[in-house]
Amino acid sequence: MALIFHPLLSAYLWLLLPFVVAQSSAGDIGVGSSIKATTDSKPWISPSGDFAFGFHQLGTDNDLFLLAIWYYKIPSRTIVWYANGDKPAPTRSKVELTADRGLVLSDPKGQLIWRSEFATGDVAVATMNDTCNFVVYGVQKGWCAFFSKGKFQFRLLPDGNAVLNTINMESNLAYFAYYISVTYDQANPSNSGFQVRLQEDGSFYILRANNQTFSLNSDGFVPSTDYYYTVTLNFDGVLTLSRYPISIPPAAIETGVLVPPFQIISAQQDSKGMVVEHVVTTVYAHLKPTKGHGVTVLRVTLYPMQMMSTDCLCIVAVYNRGDCFKKTLPLPYGRQDVQVNNIAFLKVSPKKSSDYINRIRKKVPKFVDNSDLSAPRKIKRNHSNRNGIQSSLRYFNYKELEEATKCFEEELGRGSFGIVYKGIIKTGSEDQTRVAVKKLDRVVQDTDKEFRTEVNVIAQTHHRNLVKLLGYCDEGQSRMLVYEYLSNGTLASFLFGDLKPSWNQRTQIAMGIARGLCYLHEECSPQIIHCDIKPQNILLDDYYDARISDFGLSKLLGIDQSCTNTAIRGTKGYVALEWFKTVPVTVKVDVYSFGVLLLEIICCRRNVLMYPGEEERTILTDWACDCFSEGTVDALVENDAEALGDKMKLERFVMVALWCIQEDISLRPTMKKVLLMLEEIIIVPAPPLPCRSYMSA
Ligand code: ATP
Repeated sequence: MALIFHPLLSAYLWLLLPFVVAQSSAGDIGVGSSIKATTDSKPWISPSGDFAFGFHQLGTDNDLFLLAIWYYKIPSRTIVWYANGDKPAPTRSKVELTADRGLVLSDPKGQLIWRSEFATGDVAVATMNDTCNFVVYGVQKGWCAFFSKGKFQFRLLPDGNAVLNTINMESNLAYFAYYISVTYDQANPSNSGFQVRLQEDGSFYILRANNQTFSLNSDGFVPSTDYYYTVTLNFDGVLTLSRYPISIPPAAIETGVLVPPFQIISAQQDSKGMVVEHVVTTVYAHLKPTKGHGVTVLRVTLYPMQMMSTDCLCIVAVYNRGDCFKKTLPLPYGRQDVQVNNIAFLKVSPKKSSDYINRIRKKVPKFVDNSDLSAPRKIKRNHSNRNGIQSSLRYFNYKELEEATKCFEEELGRGSFGIVYKGIIKTGSEDQTRVAVKKLDRVVQDTDKEFRTEVNVIAQTHHRNLVKLLGYCDEGQSRMLVYEYLSNGTLASFLFGDLKPSWNQRTQIAMGIARGLCYLHEECSPQIIHCDIKPQNILLDDYYDARISDFGLSKLLGIDQSCTNTAIRGTKGYVALEWFKTVPVTVKVDVYSFGVLLLEIICCRRNVLMYPGEEERTILTDWACDCFSEGTVDALVENDAEALGDKMKLERFVMVALWCIQEDISLRPTMKKVLLMLEEIIIVPAPPLPCRSYMSA
């Protein structure tokens, strides 16, 4: 459902907030009452203790807060509504109930961040009630609704049709509806829709003027008062009904899509309260490719499922006349339409624990199973499970790799821990694939077990922006890693070569790297710190998409990531200051290196480069700080017309980079936040200056 931290894109359908005649009772919030945005501030709680209204901190390492309502009894905080998604509030911001302006959220300087939009001038008192409504009592009757700004909209039109449509974010004008309930009846107006209702037992329907109902619940929904229910218009335009068991602790959130096309069978929460698993199944769907939603068009006609299953990020593949649209999450809106001749394959969760899923499996013939997504299907999985290495990895003996590389004939390059050779391995009786074989020459984990443990960690990473490990060899003294071969070389040669890559290509590459790092930091267990992010360690695939290489090698190379008493892993110019201090090395070292790399990508130049007569330009990180503080960011891209024409993005990217290279570790954002800032999902505050690098000291 992912509604919580996607502020710009998230439109939250909120139950209308009644504004009713004053009638004071216990638990009232009087005019003048306020809450401050601090980590220990007390929320306003509903009488039963089910719901809380107050400030929710966005992550533990920053000072930004959402004004939100959440389930107070559910331990992992589950937000059901928030006000200021597109403008998080800094510490010590204040929300106050005022008589003349309703609820007002302002920053510590008194600047308005958000305010409720209901009728003003007559507020007497308010309560957070047990039906999850924040009710404002006044002299007049009225209605108010809180929405965070999003690009999707769910409405009941005056004619009686409920519709889902996108809106123009500037003008707020509605585009064509992608869902229509068809509850308008011209011949018999009493048949038309009149009201949309969500009942306590989860029944969600359109009430017709003649009191009949048109259900919006998915098939098989069983009403029950054992749950809390919320209706959400997700950031991807899908309207969902979620339910949370009232008993504590909740087992899981269950989500059902109310409106076609995707029938989400179940979803579970991770420890942070985010939904991590979707089980989706449908066979035919119309999907409109939407710019910015990760659509890849491929001309393929054969083996669609196989191709899809080897792409970790591909969630749905749609086939139409020989073209294949691969889509990643978030899925934009789509709908089932018998008129449309597309065939869509949707991935399902690898977990098959639920009986329900097994039942569905029997029913749906074209159920795509990606449970062994990790295994490149073409590669024969012989020697699986040898020595406890994950079964998707192929074990090679020395002779096989000697043959594959023709006695280590063609060198692709040399790194600090060995030589990389080009090779070809057989993947079937007739198929073969190109590989890069990395011969490690200074592996310190000399016991088989340690080596295997670390290889296993690398093997379990699956992300489109990481170079994929296909196999390994640990015979005798030989330790080799076999990677997929990437045809377009390193980012270093692409960026600093004769032909300057386009601004668009560069920004895409930067985002890809950020995504890959975010995955290593946030989604891998154990967490992987790369420790050597630089353009030489970013490879480019056939489509010039960025792939991070060399991740997970720190342990193989004996680098103690917890303290810097050991050798520094990393490359001068890219390593953060803490490597030189006796402080723990954290993921923030990668954030620092990413910042340097981002500036190199923006400017298409190396971090250190001599400019005779213009010494101020020698160290890119310092020069970028100067340019930013002097308002001359344009100078960084010289005559790059494409970048100059995309000024907002240019400034945003430079600011993000400057945040990343802050000397104060705590000021550096996490990669997750970096990504959100690059994607323009959260605003980028001006970075503190000066942020001069230690290199110039
Ligand atoms: P360092 O080890 O100091 O970080 P490095 O990253 O350049 O340096 P390696 O990862 O060993 O060292 O790679 C050496 C070279 O081999 C790379 O620069 C690249 O040109 C080539 N190479 C490595 N992996 C692949 C691959 N999967 N596909 C194609 N070429 C590769």
